[in-house]
Amino acid sequence: MTSIHPQQIFAKFILLADGWQENVLLEHDSNGVITKIKPQTEKPANFSGKVIDGAVIPGMVNNHSHAFQWAMAGLGEASGSSKDSFWTWRKAMYGFVENIEPEDLNHIASALYMQMLKAGYTSVGEFHYLHHDKKGGFYENPAEMSMQIFEAAKNSGIDVTLLPVFYRYSGFGPQAPNDGQKRFIHSQDDYGRLLEQVHLLSSEYNQSYGIAPHSLRAVDKSDLEFAVKALRSQSESAPVHIHIAEQTKEVNDCVAHYGQRPVEWLYDNLSPDDKWCLIHATHLTDGEVKSIAGSKAVVSICTTTEANLGDGFFPMLDYKAQGGRWSVGSDSHISVNAIEELRWLEYQQRLREHSRTVLVDGANSSTGHWLWTQAAQGGAQSLQQPVGQIAVGYKANFVELNLESLVFTGKSREQLLDAFIFNHQADNDAINTVWIRGKKVVEQGNHISQEDIIDDFKKSMARLQVG
Ligand SMILES: [Zn+2]
Repeated sequence: MTSIHPQQIFAKFILLADGWQENVLLEHDSNGVITKIKPQTEKPANFSGKVIDGAVIPGMVNNHSHAFQWAMAGLGEASGSSKDSFWTWRKAMYGFVENIEPEDLNHIASALYMQMLKAGYTSVGEFHYLHHDKKGGFYENPAEMSMQIFEAAKNSGIDVTLLPVFYRYSGFGPQAPNDGQKRFIHSQDDYGRLLEQVHLLSSEYNQSYGIAPHSLRAVDKSDLEFAVKALRSQSESAPVHIHIAEQTKEVNDCVAHYGQRPVEWLYDNLSPDDKWCLIHATHLTDGEVKSIAGSKAVVSICTTTEANLGDGFFPMLDYKAQGGRWSVGSDSHISVNAIEELRWLEYQQRLREHSRTVLVDGANSSTGHWLWTQAAQGGAQSLQQPVGQIAVGYKANFVELNLESLVFTGKSREQLLDAFIFNHQADNDAINTVWIRGKKVVEQGNHISQEDIIDDFKKSMARLQVG
C-alpha cells in the first residue's frame, strides 16, 4: 500500500551536500524520493516516522556488475600449466556459464545484491550478458534472464539499472562468436527487440535500464550506432556503458584493426557524453585521458577485479587533475566491498607516488570524504539516477554507520569517513543499517530476507557443483 502522505525520517547525524548536519528532518514520497530536508530542527511532537541514531551517509553506487561471475569468485586462483592470464580466466568463466539456468541466475544475483547492500552499495549497474539458453537459443520469453535480474533486485531490495549487453563477435574483424559465447549473442534486430522488452520490464519493476555494447571487439561501428539510436528512441537520458581498454592485447588488436587505440577510435567515431560510462579505461595515452575528462563521461574503476586479473593501473592522478568523473564497480565480485575498492584506489597512488593522502580535495581535507562522495556521485551520473547524495529530489538510499563500532571510537565527525575506509577490521561492524527509498533492507548488519536468500543460493550452488 502506498501512502499519499510524506514519510518522515529524523536523522541525528547526517552527511548532506554541504557537510555533516545534526538533527535533520527528512520527508520522502511513496517512491522514496526526498521531498524536504530541514536541518537543525527538533523532532516534531507526536513524531511517528523513523529515527536514525547512527551517522547517515549516501549509499554507494556499484556501477559494474556481472552477477553470475560471483558464483566462481575464488575458483580462478590455482596455477595452470601455462602463464595464467585474463584470457585463461575468461575460458574458465565460459565453462561455468554453460550450466546456469534462469532460476540460478535469480538465486546468485539475489544473494550477491544482498551482500552488496550489507557492504553499503545501494545501487547496482548490472552489465548483463547471459541472455540465451544452454544451446544458445532464445528462451520462450527472450527477456527471461533480464527479468531474473529485476526479480533479484526485488528480492534483495537494491536499486538496479539493467544494462543488457549487445555482443556479436569474438574479435575485431569481425570474427564469428565462439561456442563459449553462444548464450550472449544478438543480431541488431534481436537486440532492438530485447531493448523494447527491457524498457517495459524496467517500468513494471520500478527500476531503470540502459545499454551495454560489450566492447569494441564484440560490436562494430554500425552495431554501436544502432544500439545508441534504439536506446534514444526509447529514452533521452538512459546510460550507455562499454568495456573499453582493459587489456593491452585488446588495445593492440584494436590498433591492428582500426589503426587507432580504443578510446581514440571511440571519440573519433561516436560522441560519448555525460551519459556514457567507460569501464576499465585502464590503458590510456595523455590524449585519451583528455578526451574522456573533457566529454564528462564517467569511468568505472574496478580496482580489485583489475588487480585480480592483472589488468594494470588506471591513470587516476592525470585524470583527476583534469576534473575527470569516476566511479567504482565490483565487476567479477572477487571483493564485494566498497571500502576496499576505494582504499586500494588510494593505495595504488601512494605506492606509485611514494606519497600519502593523494586523492583529496586540496590541502587539509579528508581522503575518505573525497573518495566516498566522488565515487557515489560519479556512479549516480553513470546510471543517470537521482542517487549518490542526500538532497531534495534524490532517493532516500542511506547507509547508517554504527558509531558504537570500535572503528569509530575516539573519532571526530570530520574523521568518520577516513576511519570508515582506512580503519578496516576483519570483524567489521561499521555499517549498521542500510535504507533503500526510505525503507530498511539491512538491520544490525543483517539483511531482512537473509535466510531465504541464502537457502536459495546454496541450492543453486549445489546444483552447479561449485565448491
Ligand atoms: Zn566487466
